[in-house]
Amino acid sequence: MRAHEAGALHADLGHRGPSWLRPPEDVNALLPQLWPRTVTRADSGALTVGGVDVREIARQHGTPVYVLDEADFRARCREFAAAFSDCDVYYAGKAFICKAIVRIVAEEGLFLDVCSGGELAVALAAGFPPERLGFHGNNKSVAELTRAVEAGVGRIIVDSFDEIERLTAIARERGVRPSVLIRVTVGVEAHTHEFIATAHEDQKFGFSLAGGAALAAALKIIDEDALELRGLHSHIGSQIFDTGGFEVSARRVVELQARIRDARGVELPELDLGGGFGIAYTSQDDPAEPGDLAKRLRKIVEDECNLAGLAVPQVSIEPGRAIVGPAMFTLYEVGTVKDVDGIRSYVSVDGGMSDNIRTALYDASYSATVANRASNATPMLARVVGKHCEAGDIVVKDEFLPADVRPGDLLAVPGTGAYCRSMASNYNHVPRPSVVAVTEGATRVIVRRETEDDLLALDMG
Ligand SMILES: *Cc1c(COP(=O)(O)O)cnc(C)c1O
Repeated sequence: MRAHEAGALHADLGHRGPSWLRPPEDVNALLPQLWPRTVTRADSGALTVGGVDVREIARQHGTPVYVLDEADFRARCREFAAAFSDCDVYYAGKAFICKAIVRIVAEEGLFLDVCSGGELAVALAAGFPPERLGFHGNNKSVAELTRAVEAGVGRIIVDSFDEIERLTAIARERGVRPSVLIRVTVGVEAHTHEFIATAHEDQKFGFSLAGGAALAAALKIIDEDALELRGLHSHIGSQIFDTGGFEVSARRVVELQARIRDARGVELPELDLGGGFGIAYTSQDDPAEPGDLAKRLRKIVEDECNLAGLAVPQVSIEPGRAIVGPAMFTLYEVGTVKDVDGIRSYVSVDGGMSDNIRTALYDASYSATVANRASNATPMLARVVGKHCEAGDIVVKDEFLPADVRPGDLLAVPGTGAYCRSMASNYNHVPRPSVVAVTEGATRVIVRRETEDDLLALDMG
């Protein structure tokens, strides 16, 4: 009876997934905007990336594994650099950083943002030119600031009066004059598909513009003269598809720049509009091309500067997700398939919230496909879940998978390059997966898988 009721419900609602999700005509098809560029489904039915069969990657490197399409990552670096050729493009390392990534970012001519001593250490260990580094964070320690100053980091984005004092002391002690930007809270909160302008900013980052702290910080730095104030910085959020938020934000920082000029006769030479450019996680997302973005942002800044009577400053942007997010996918092995009341199937994989916390943390949507074979079975509504002791351990909330998906199949989840390995944890003492870069028929481990020995190494008994 329950099954019958559930069946009726299923028929009434179509299915229990979101209203936009429809059974695909071909459950084996790959939506190009979701996958790294070299990924195809070969005649065998299995996916290949960079010319390598994913079954071979799983056999050689185990699962779960993050797979980086190196050609795709490089192409995205290059496209941003070309589209924003008159700007400085900082790759936001917090999305995903390791030495191999840092080297590629350097080779492709980008700058690099870090936001902790650890990320700074990776950048320096990989030999990244320190003058091309930016250093963010709302609570940088004295040790972190000292290291950044001693390494010659190109710019430090100051975030509080306490930090200005700390950095001023460090600079005076060493007789140097570090370049800084001021992180401004412009009162624009960016959400996935809209932005809300708030008069009152209630969050931890930056100096409030509306409250006057941002202007006060600028005047303090200029008057004290221990730090070189290069410009203002604004980062309005993440996964933004609408340039309206950037328009409001640019207008407000340019207005502030004009007030600084009026107060001290100083025209700041730089302006950083931050990152946050959206990517496609499902068929519903339609991100802009870097070229379109560049055109729109340039026009916004030029218009605002013309209005304020300011020369157009050197603009920088800080994409993280938009460069690395689509360049990677996670390859899992299916362990169990459970039908729940005829509503949906729960497909358990050998990872979960420890390698992708975004679904649990942000209610993020992902998609998935069976990667080791093509299937002729009808599509069925599935939820991809992990192996952790947590009911919220969901990787993909809703996806149509072939009804014959079974233990031993490989499942690929695209769009996991950003904020997945970088946010990975050891919950349930599950070792964190490796990251394997694939290019031109060859695989290379760029971050090795953790072992039980790694986990036990920290345990002092
Ligand atoms: C997180 C962050 C970025 C990158 O955001 P994406 O959404 O990955 O593009 C850029 N700048 C700052 C200051 C950030 O905090």
